[in-house]
Amino acid sequence: MHAPAFFRQIAHLILGSERKQQLRISRSLTAAYVFLACVGLQIYASRTGLLEAEHGWRLSILCLVNITLWYGLLRSGLNLRFRDPALTMPQVLAAMTIIVYAYSGANQIQGSIMMLLTLVQVFGIFTMSLRDARLAGLYSLTLMGIVMVYKSLTDPVHYPYQLEIAHFILIAAILPTISHLAAQLSAMRARLQSQKNELAQALTRIQILATRDELTGLFNRRHMLDVLTQHQKRLIRSGHHRFCLALLDIDHFKRINDTHGHGVGDEVLREFAATLQRALRDTDVLARWGGEEFLLLINDTSPDLAIIGVDRARELLAASPLLPHMPDLKVTFSAGLTGYNDVEELSACIERADRALYRAKSEGRDRTVIADPPPPQVGATGTQRLAAAH
Ligand code: GH3
Ligand code: MG
Ligand code: MG
Repeated sequence: MHAPAFFRQIAHLILGSERKQQLRISRSLTAAYVFLACVGLQIYASRTGLLEAEHGWRLSILCLVNITLWYGLLRSGLNLRFRDPALTMPQVLAAMTIIVYAYSGANQIQGSIMMLLTLVQVFGIFTMSLRDARLAGLYSLTLMGIVMVYKSLTDPVHYPYQLEIAHFILIAAILPTISHLAAQLSAMRARLQSQKNELAQALTRIQILATRDELTGLFNRRHMLDVLTQHQKRLIRSGHHRFCLALLDIDHFKRINDTHGHGVGDEVLREFAATLQRALRDTDVLARWGGEEFLLLINDTSPDLAIIGVDRARELLAASPLLPHMPDLKVTFSAGLTGYNDVEELSACIERADRALYRAKSEGRDRTVIADPPPPQVGATGTQRLAAAH
């Protein structure tokens, strides 16, 4: 096994496979590293007489239990049941309690132990809210104050009140400063998050604008050309999935605009698009091709069958008024339908549908005219067709 793969497996075993959980566990293990260093320090301090041996052992056990508890909670996934799955606040409070306890028996090295309180506070500032950071600061300050008063009364030799006052002033100055930094970081995080959300929304909007027609919500001409090219490539590659194109144009639409105004015209366009979509299959693709003209892609079928779908749309349109508040407004459309089934440019197929549409108009409107596609090329392979089409 390669060394990187081996280390990856070990990391996987320790941290699990889920990215967010990995992050939480590794953060907790970084804190555990500090605790382990403290255990080492306690053993050293007990041996050299800087710390009472019994207090040192109790403290070491407390540190190890603390590490195991948080690791177990995070690695087992039990943390996911909590509002903050990172369990930052409880981990910070537990660490602060242990440090204050360490302080209470540290005799000569209490000054250096006090420093650890600030380290814990720093751990929290990346993830804690401003409120939690302030609460944690207040908690450790109060606890420390109580222990200092108690120790200077009960053990004035090791904890003279003059020194304890100096210590208290020091942490009372440092902890709120860190809380203040946490507040700034938390505001910065919130700002970044809201900018990220705004960007994501803008991107979605740009994607919609780039592919959709604003009035009807249908695909726009540019995007429809992409869709058609995809279908053309699929057909050329596989020889299957033939498709038809129908160009639909609302009859005498100009009259609607002229008689009822542009607003009603827009409403007609919107409702016309919605009615057509209701009549079509999910696999059919309808796009606004321009003004009051629509291009319909009908998949996996021939023109003789595709016309059924187009006529179904025509019937649905005739069945009830398009605009409920204008029951007398009748809207019809003419359509030119043709099949794309062999080597040809897409534009040639669209032009054929357009010519058929023109015939439908000249033959009296409200009808569909089918234009036959050119005869298929015999014997050409998919690759040759692809080469021929491009
Ligand atoms: P025909 O039956 O021959 O198709 O006649 P027509 O009146 O439908 O066709 P013509 O091409 O003369 O008129 C199309 C009109 O559609 C002209 C244009 O002002 C109008 N139009 C194009 N886009 C829009 C739009 O977005 N909203 C509105 N309300 N009208 C539009
Ligand atoms: Mg028209
Ligand atoms: Mg037109």
